[in-house]
Amino acid sequence: MRLKDKVAIVTGAGRGIGLVTAQTFAREGAKVALCDLDLPEVQAAAEEIRKSGGQAVAFQANTGQTPSVQEFLRKVLAEFGRVDILVNNAGIIRDKQLLKMEEADFDAVIEVNLKGVYLCTRHVAEVMAAQGGGVILNASSVVALYGNFGQTNYVASKAGVIGMTKVWARELGRKGIRVNAVAPGFIETRMTEGIPDKVMEQLVSKVPLGRMGKPQDIANAYLWLASDEASYVTGHVLSVDGGAVT
Ligand code: NAP
Repeated sequence: MRLKDKVAIVTGAGRGIGLVTAQTFAREGAKVALCDLDLPEVQAAAEEIRKSGGQAVAFQANTGQTPSVQEFLRKVLAEFGRVDILVNNAGIIRDKQLLKMEEADFDAVIEVNLKGVYLCTRHVAEVMAAQGGGVILNASSVVALYGNFGQTNYVASKAGVIGMTKVWARELGRKGIRVNAVAPGFIETRMTEGIPDKVMEQLVSKVPLGRMGKPQDIANAYLWLASDEASYVTGHVLSVDGGAVT
């Protein structure tokens, strides 16, 4: 087991990549704290993990709001006593072309995808520093590296995540904390469900491996980065995109 007895937080774990990451970490021996906006959904996810023999607890939290993040972390520490791994997975889209994008669309995405990653890391890193180490993993995106039509807000947030990852790798390395990001390509989740078939066909036609990714493809990358096999890897952005950015 590659994460035996590690305590891992996965944000946005009610479905999609976060859910499969939580399941994967639990299979590898981690005690997993799942959070999501939707409590029943994330409770069902944790219940399923427990039924499969894993250890998991579910919490409601909004990663973009300080009081919510602090309360969530307090409950995680009350339950497990420490945090070894944080996966900043929670994310949203509010796609519109620039000339139609309202300030509220911009702010909403920045609040969750950028500020939420800052807030969770800000508070969890303090715990990790006091413990003497930990691993922080951030959800970026392939679009942060080459832009995408209709995603001013999302691309800004995901490019910002790459910047923060590199800053934190420098700041936290001496405290034993590794910080890396994963840049997924187009992955089969609810987030990409709304993309019209024709557009998706065009996108996939540019992927050298010729298919969309699956949540497990991303969970596997998080697993490796979280494990001791990556103990000399920090400040890295790992593209998991079928070769889309080559
Ligand atoms: P998803 O299926 O939409 O799942 C996102 C999860 O995050 C949902 O369970 C959602 O909760 C939760 N969430 C949203 N805002 C939250 C908040 N403020 N606090 C706590 N939880 C929150 O998305 P996904 O495709 O699995 O994406 C996961 C991450 O990978 C995101 O950061 C996304 O940007 C990134 N990513 C995805 C793709 C892709 O192709 N799918 C590509 C590149 C990067 P609710 O159920 O309550 O809405």
